[in-house]
Parts: sequence; C-alpha cells; structure tokens
Amino acid sequence: MELAKATLDSQDQQRSHSASADKKAGDKNLSALYWRLLSQLQASLHNQQILATFHERVAEHFAIDGISYAAYPQADLLLIGEQQPHQAAYRLRARDDDFGELTLFRHKRLLPEELADLELLLGTLISPLRNARQYQNAIKASRKDPLTGLGNRMAMTEQLEQEIAIANRHQRPLSLMLLDIDKFKSVNDTHGHQVGDQVLRQFSDLLGRLNRQSDQSYRFGGEEFVIILRDTEAKGAMVAAERIRNAIASQTITANQADFQITASIGLAAYQSGDSTDSMIRRADMAMYKIKNRGGNDFCCAENTHLIHSTGE
Ligand code: GH3
Ligand code: MG
Ligand code: MG
Repeated sequence: MELAKATLDSQDQQRSHSASADKKAGDKNLSALYWRLLSQLQASLHNQQILATFHERVAEHFAIDGISYAAYPQADLLLIGEQQPHQAAYRLRARDDDFGELTLFRHKRLLPEELADLELLLGTLISPLRNARQYQNAIKASRKDPLTGLGNRMAMTEQLEQEIAIANRHQRPLSLMLLDIDKFKSVNDTHGHQVGDQVLRQFSDLLGRLNRQSDQSYRFGGEEFVIILRDTEAKGAMVAAERIRNAIASQTITANQADFQITASIGLAAYQSGDSTDSMIRRADMAMYKIKNRGGNDFCCAENTHLIHSTGE
C-alpha cells in the first residue's frame, strides 16, 4: 500500500502550473491534458461533476481507478470510481483557502514521476472547486431566513416537494404543521419592531429545540412557521402539536428586559394520495384558522376536525 501525504498549494493565476506543464520536455500529452482540464472543469458548479470529469480525463492517462473527496474535514466523502489499495492523499490548499482532502486510488503502485504529473493536474481543480463552493453558498443563503436562521418559504416548499415524492413512492406517512403566533402585532405595537424581531428569533430557537432532529422547522413568513413531520401520520402529528403548543405556552420569552407569554395556533395536514405542496399547506392553513377563530393557543388537524383539541375545555 502506498500513501503519499502532501499539501498542494495552488496560485490563483495557475501560471506556475501552466509554465511547468509546458516545460516538461516532450510531454505534450500532459500539457494538452492540463489545458483541456482547465477549460472542461470550469463548465460545472457541482463538486460531483467536477470530480467526475477530472477522474474521467485523468483515468485515460494514468489508469486512476477512483477519487475520493471531502470538501472539509467534516464534510461527506464523495467517491468517484472505485477505492483501491494504492492511494495518494492530498490536502488541497490555495493561499489560506482550504479545499479539503482528495485521494487518488489505483490498483497498482503510483510511481513518483506519475505522482509529480498528477500533482500538477490537481491544480486545475482549485478554481472550479472555489466557484462551486461560492455557488453552493449563494444557494444556501437564498434558502435561509436572515432573521431566524431557519429555512425560508422557498426551502420549505422544496423540501416538502421531496417529502411528498418519498411519501408517494414508498407509501410513507407525512404531516405538515403550520404555526401562527397569536396576537403578535401587539408585541410590535407595545414594544417596537426590534423587540418583536428578538421575540421571533427566540421563538424559532425554541421550535428548533422542541423538534425531533429529522423534523425541519421553517419560517413560512412573518410570524408563521412550518414543521415538516416525516414518517408521521395524523395521530402522531397531533401528539407532536400538543407537545409543541404546551411547550410554547409554558415558556416565558424575555426580550429587552420584558417578559412575553407567547401562544400559537397550530394547523395540521396529513398527506393524502394526490396531495401537492399547495394542497397540504392550504389544508393546514384552514385547520389553523379554525383555531384562530376559537381564540388561539390550540391545534387542529385537517383530517380530524371533529377531534379539535381544546386546552380550555
Ligand atoms: P393573530 O392572532 O390573528 O395571528 O394576530 P397577529 O397579530 O399575530 O396577526 P396579524 O396578521 O394581524 O399580524 C402579524 C404581525 O406580525 C404584524 C407584523 O408586523 C408582524 N410581523 C411579521 N413579520 C415580522 C418581522 O419580521 N418582525 C417583526 N417584529 N414583526 C413581524
Ligand atoms: Mg399570521
Ligand atoms: Mg399571528
């Protein structure tokens, strides 16, 4: 087994790589491959595709069987091709920027001269990986609510679409919880918008703490929040709703030295065959308004409206 640990430093301009690639007397193939990689790798903004292209091109010349890549030490490992006993691992760095660890796998020993060539080619990955990271960060930011840090409406809709597809394909239950803070306007009216913002932030932190990890919370808009309850049928969703309702009502939120007793009206919808994101949200919204009309601080499930729960009765 062979393990070469090395740090690859790449200059942004890649001039040094191109110069040394050209200098390799007689090795026109390497130079051509280098330039080909430089142009082809720029075509994608996804790590998976960038590495697949790199692997495909490099495999043609060096019989590399596989590449693994972890963008950061804690990131998921991406594997292209196959792992083999012989490997060479590199830490990809450009100036102070760390692009994680990349490992090349081959069924036979990697020779020092081959490694020197491969190290040169690895430099072509830096700029595409940086572009991909910037793009992914921008996508992430566009799905995040800046006030609370929760996913926003767009993120929720995308996730719900996926969950509906899974529920449909695998006949799994799925529920949606819509929470609307009761009389929130009075918080703003009495204490000002900034205090209102702090209350919303703390409310969303509370939701995050109350949630099972697999159930994601989102800010749907204003003082409305959504929780997607994966693998949960109506009955389970009602248990969760009562637990969350009770925890919200029992918690005192303190902002700007004032105490707030917040309550929420909760509407639930359980997935039914043929449901879309819109139809589930609409049913949860209608169930939520049933509670609103009864004074709030309660939950109702669209599928079991006769079972309307009441804290006061
Ligand atoms: P209800 O019990 O009927 O839900 O009453 P409500 O006052 O909660 O609902 P309404 O729809 O009348 O008002 C929502 C309030 O939420 C008014 C709006 O200013 C406030 N709000 C929405 N988004 C934000 C925000 O980002 N920050 C702050 N501070 N307030 C917000
Ligand atoms: Mg509202
Ligand atoms: Mg409200």
